[in-house]
Amino acid sequence: MERIGLFGGSFNPVHLGHLLVAQAAREELQLDRIVFTPAARSPFKPGIELAPAAQRLRMLRLALAGQPDCEIDDQEIARGGVSYTIDTVRSYVRRFPQAELFCLIGADHVNQLPLWRDAPELARLVQFVVIPRPGQTLADAPPPFRSHPLRGFPLGVSASQIRERVRNGLPIHWLVPPAVVEAIHIDRLYQ
Ligand code: ATP
Repeated sequence: MERIGLFGGSFNPVHLGHLLVAQAAREELQLDRIVFTPAARSPFKPGIELAPAAQRLRMLRLALAGQPDCEIDDQEIARGGVSYTIDTVRSYVRRFPQAELFCLIGADHVNQLPLWRDAPELARLVQFVVIPRPGQTLADAPPPFRSHPLRGFPLGVSASQIRERVRNGLPIHWLVPPAVVEAIHIDRLYQ
């Protein structure tokens, strides 16, 4: 049975924290592949400064180039509006009815899971992989959600920190892959 990890987020921009947890999830949960599903707009981040979807997608492509086990699915961007995990999960259940589905979620979001759209159905269709974040205790998802804590590799990096560093003219090398640093500078993102 194929095991697929769905990694949703704004990826505004994608950074090494995302890439490291994707690798850890693949290894620890024996996932066959990880699908990055960039949101058109997150229901939790209504006001944030969001780079255009085309540029967030491009940075993801650059970051994941040459990684055969990592894919990008732009369906949330194609749908537009606010992106809900349940819509994406339903599409995977339809396309891969035999697969076991896992959603990666930051420890900072776990307690909010019961408030997510169509939470009971979501709890039935997927298992959650809870990503450690520095300063957050790694709690299990509340029942009926099924969850697995991830051990590696918590990194104290966030996209908002990177945007702020760009705004302040500070270097972002070693926080995002080199090709993403270049794309941010060439496209003058987050200034
Ligand atoms: P922002 O700082 O803009 O809120 P973010 O860095 O948290 O963004 P998102 O793209 O919204 O990034 O995150 C997608 C998912 O990745 C979320 O579940 C988030 O908790 C998780 N995540 C983000 N940064 C890290 C990190 N450094 N280590 C582990 N997980 C992370």
